[in-house]
Amino acid sequence: MSLTVVGSIAYDTVKTPFGERERMLGGAATYFALAASQFGTVRPVGPVGGDFGDSELEVLRTRGTLTDDVQFVPDGKTFFWAAEYGWDLNTRETLDTQLGVFGEFEPQLSEAARDCDVLFLGNIQPTLQSSVLDQCHNPRWTALDSMNYWIDSTRDELVKVIERVDCVLLNDAEIRELTGKPSLAAAAREILAMGPSSVIAKQGEYGAVLVSPEGFFSLPAFPLETVVDPTGAGDSFAGGVCGYVASQRERQIDHALLSTAMAYGTAIASFNVEEFGIDRLVRLGFAEINARVGELHRITQFTHPSVEETVA
Ligand code: AMP
Repeated sequence: MSLTVVGSIAYDTVKTPFGERERMLGGAATYFALAASQFGTVRPVGPVGGDFGDSELEVLRTRGTLTDDVQFVPDGKTFFWAAEYGWDLNTRETLDTQLGVFGEFEPQLSEAARDCDVLFLGNIQPTLQSSVLDQCHNPRWTALDSMNYWIDSTRDELVKVIERVDCVLLNDAEIRELTGKPSLAAAAREILAMGPSSVIAKQGEYGAVLVSPEGFFSLPAFPLETVVDPTGAGDSFAGGVCGYVASQRERQIDHALLSTAMAYGTAIASFNVEEFGIDRLVRLGFAEINARVGELHRITQFTHPSVEETVA
């Protein structure tokens, strides 16, 4: 499989009720690649500064991730982000964002990155997402993430790129904001009408929903008793989804396949949040992921009684 992801590579300082870590390796493309590399080769595209260490690059290369498209800007600084979570781990406060080299980022993909089967456009300026799409040679499947900042400030550009991708993968609040529709089902329908063949709404602790012309699928998050750091949950979920899709080269990418992909994304994201930063993703094995996918399958089944049984 070949999978290209464009997005941030960062240093993160994160505080949660369970502790604090400074300048951990993070960024959307990092979490995504650590998740997607469970399924095959990933190429992250993103900039780093002269402060980016060789040891961080080695971590990014976990499970064979190819770093040829990581753009080094020796006299610049790597993107820095600081955030704090309260007891409600679904909400966080961003304390600091220093764009550094990410501010002047102009993605230039290598020939190998352009040749990908699956392309994930991480949360960057929509015109840059368009430029990455222009550079790629007709990937089999494309998905896009964004955030409220781009929805507010560059909605028209964002809609233009949404029109060109197969899947929109956003938080449910972002989907409502983008469409102005309070009902998630109606909001997702509106996005489908723009062009994509699927919408995946992330709902944090409550799971994720898939809406496509074939129907509706809802999956809870994996039930965890301990969540230590939710950072990167969305990006590792996206990495799991896209990694699974990219690995299924012979199959049609339909509602059923995307539902299974969501189960893999959910399982990987559940491991991610059990420890700080990327720690758990780095040493995560596929057998552990598969066991949680099996458990998710088990907990989402129920018996539909016949009418006779119900009214007896
Ligand atoms: P998530 O928790 O899945 O939303 O992802 C958190 C990751 O996104 C962190 O590792 C941050 O470095 C990165 N991040 C935070 N803000 C931004 C931003 N404005 N643009 C790109 N990446 C960001």
